Amino acid sequence: RALIQGSHLTKIYATSTGPLVALDDVSFDIREGEFVSLVGPSGCGKSTLLSLLGGLEERSEGTLTLNGQDLDRPRPDIGFMLQTAVLFPWRSVMENIRLPGAILGLDRKAQAERCQELLELVGLAGFGDRYPNELSGGMRQRVALARLLAHDPDVLLMDEPFGALDEFTRETMNLELLRIWSATGKTVVFVTHNIGEAVFLSDRVFVMTPRPGRLAGVVEIDLPRP
Ligand code: ADP
Ligand code: ADP
Repeated sequence: RALIQGSHLTKIYATSTGPLVALDDVSFDIREGEFVSLVGPSGCGKSTLLSLLGGLEERSEGTLTLNGQDLDRPRPDIGFMLQTAVLFPWRSVMENIRLPGAILGLDRKAQAERCQELLELVGLAGFGDRYPNELSGGMRQRVALARLLAHDPDVLLMDEPFGALDEFTRETMNLELLRIWSATGKTVVFVTHNIGEAVFLSDRVFVMTPRPGRLAGVVEIDLPRP
């Protein structure tokens, strides 16, 4: 069943040298629980499309819905993860993970339990009292992943989340992401310019053309999951 539907999406940025078409007439749907990757060369509009899905940018034309509701603003059931985690340095790992729940006013006790479980899920049990500057890059992204899951969003939007990590850590994190994805049933939209990574991770790969970004094709992947 289609969870997210985009129809004739166009995004034009106003720039000092005039209008810039970043996305041109893009239509797609994303099923519930699906893992979709967006691939294409730098500048083809992957981050722009992710920003529209996250309600962070206004579209120029077209429609975009989640469960039939217009996706025109950020919402708590859609979570975002970027290449480099923005963690509060003066807050412990656990406090960082608990922040979204605190902001959303979720039940403190339930959140404390959930966040402890999440810490274990991402392999950081025992690191709750540490501070971000004591952690490696891979561990910081694990914190970001736990924080992303803390308020239990249905959709995870990930923009090259492991792109800054070394090859080995990246592969480890990809495997962990797949494990978490199959354990939680989340819908994932994952941006990468690495086709190998997209094929490895995804149910479907959306291939975008160089600017102006159009959807060149959608590739169904049927690899056995690790
Ligand atoms: P990708 O993520 O595939 O590298 P982006 O979505 O970041 O592509 O960018 C698509 C195009 O839109 C690029 O030409 C980029 O320079 C331009 N662009 C992105 N964000 C903005 C913005 N806020 N203002 C103006 N142009 C932008
Ligand atoms: P390319 O042909 O594009 O270089 P690779 O086969 O090197 O692709 O894989 C690219 C990325 O895909 C890796 O860096 C990793 O993130 C992911 N990947 C591929 N195979 C695995 C695997 N067995 N375990 C985890 N990640 C993998």
